Amino acid sequence: MEKDKDKKEKKEKKQFKAESKKLLDLMIHSIYTNKEIFLRELLSNASDAIDKLAYRALTDDSLDVKKEDFAIHIDIDKERRKLIISDNGCGMTKEELENNLGTIAKSGSLDFKKMLEKKDGQDVDIIGQFGVGFYSAFMVSDKIKVESKSVDSDKAYIWKSEGADGYEIKPGKRKDTGTTITLSIKEDTDEENYSEFLDTYRIESIVKKYSDYIRYPIKMMVEHSKLKEGSENEYEKEVVEETVNSMIPLWKKEKKDITEEEYQNFYSSKFFDYDKPLKTIHTKVEGQCSYNALLYIPGHLPYDFYTKEYEKGLQLYSSGVLIMDKCADLLPDYFSFVKGLVDTEDISLNISREILQQNHSLKLIAKSIEKKIKKELETMLKEKRETYESFFKTFGMQIKFGVYADYGTHKDDLKDLLMFYSSTEKKLVTLDEYVSRMKEGQENIYYACGESVDKVDNMPQVEGIKEKGYEILYLTEYVDEFALQTLTTYNAKKFVNVSNDTVDLDSEEEKKELEEANKNAKEMFEEMKKVLESNNISDIKFTHRLKKHPVCLTTEGELSTSMEKVLNALPNDNKVNAKMIMEINENHPISKKIKDLYVNNREELEKYTKILYAQARLIEGLPIDNPTEISNLICDVISEN
Ligand code: ADP
Repeated sequence: MEKDKDKKEKKEKKQFKAESKKLLDLMIHSIYTNKEIFLRELLSNASDAIDKLAYRALTDDSLDVKKEDFAIHIDIDKERRKLIISDNGCGMTKEELENNLGTIAKSGSLDFKKMLEKKDGQDVDIIGQFGVGFYSAFMVSDKIKVESKSVDSDKAYIWKSEGADGYEIKPGKRKDTGTTITLSIKEDTDEENYSEFLDTYRIESIVKKYSDYIRYPIKMMVEHSKLKEGSENEYEKEVVEETVNSMIPLWKKEKKDITEEEYQNFYSSKFFDYDKPLKTIHTKVEGQCSYNALLYIPGHLPYDFYTKEYEKGLQLYSSGVLIMDKCADLLPDYFSFVKGLVDTEDISLNISREILQQNHSLKLIAKSIEKKIKKELETMLKEKRETYESFFKTFGMQIKFGVYADYGTHKDDLKDLLMFYSSTEKKLVTLDEYVSRMKEGQENIYYACGESVDKVDNMPQVEGIKEKGYEILYLTEYVDEFALQTLTTYNAKKFVNVSNDTVDLDSEEEKKELEEANKNAKEMFEEMKKVLESNNISDIKFTHRLKKHPVCLTTEGELSTSMEKVLNALPNDNKVNAKMIMEINENHPISKKIKDLYVNNREELEKYTKILYAQARLIEGLPIDNPTEISNLICDVISEN
């Protein structure tokens, strides 16, 4: 029975999934010079596979594995042009061979493909830092054979492929758990010397360059000279097996012994990001809690950052052994963009995930890491303004959410990391900078909300305040105003929306004048309010806050029109209405016009009221319920004049 099945399996020849096939094609025909990275990819897969088995062995006593046996072997068969990499990790079942090697497993590969396509085959060095995975081996080989036996299966399987036209899977003979990858190295061409990948020294140096920190020994047969027995000056060659990597994890090395390139190589191979990180934080803490951490702030938004697939968290190692790949409890949500790892002796190796969450040491480490990240960001803001601005443009939204989240619990920790666009500086500024520039007697921090800096700059409510020489913060993201309202004040200065009806910059005399004008127009406004009865307008009045513009809406109380927009866009039935006031510019010709109409033509006043209200809503970016009626009214008014 088994035999029949094996026979059938022998014939299987499968196609790669479409996307994988394209990537494979690109790899095979790649003119990319940094082909050596394929070895890094295969070694890191081998190391991951051993990690997985080591982790399993912690909780499964039935597994017969010994820590000291874990190793990766590299063998070179120059004559047959074979490079063989084998590990005694977890191995793959038949299904895993099919799924893992027949499909692109990782998004990094897709990014790589896009990049290669974009660059139009040009050789770009930056792609050397990609996590392109297993397929990169096709850059140097025309045939690949993978023989693997999974820890979960008693049968071994062989996966074989000669490139883009497909692969086959058949039963194998391997007895021990693990994987052996045999690359048939391409023949040399006029342009390319592939034989270098069959040279022991060359392979040794590639291992040292990219994979030195791998925690399992990478063993190779290496040629040595040694003194001939019985002789004092005659040497002979001997071939011995040697461990070629230092096995010291990068994060355990001294900072001074690590080059920028090593930090970067480590980042890209571990976190599949080919761009330089914006900031690398390498820290060693001893005291209440002890740990080593290597953290990176990415230089760009991870492609899945705003999807539910994105998982925050740091890798957690216990004395050098990986115990969790994404430990979410190590990072607060507002620093969820940070990538990296933590290695500590304070947490035991075989701690279960449930207990880990309540672990006191983990909490201490998390607190300490949070402080460290915050401090690094503050230093960046002080010393490398441009870098910080670029950080804030990418991840500022997280910080603003952090201020607003959990009922403002973290607002004091985060307020000094905030930045907003300033009307006077024409760039991002901090709250501290705003307050330090405030005019004498200025009580409030003014802000205005809108979709873009340009739109806010053209708001009627902004005009008057700008003219009086006050700086205004322009809030263009929907979370902004919620964050400021959570803060309520900064250095005892209140945040005030320029669209709030309490904004009052008039002198006593001007105030009196306006009061008088409003008193005289009281009945007219009552009449107009009746017209807008169904429109949630709580008041209509004259204003001096506008310069050229005829009309605007302001709001009473905490809820502004921009907050109304955000809240009503949420997918629930709790709709809110900001309490709106229509303010008409007392110095604009329109105010005289409506006063005339009130006396002479009430019917016409009704039309004007509706049009003014619609205009005010349009300027606020609010929808109009009755666009046809309004456009007809405008036509009526135009034709009458
Ligand atoms: P990545 O390693 O980024 O996931 P790869 O294309 O390099 O992408 O590998 C795909 C998958 O194949 C891996 O995630 C792993 O599950 C499996 N794999 C690759 N090499 C090995 C190996 N030596 N042992 C066990 N599994 C492996």
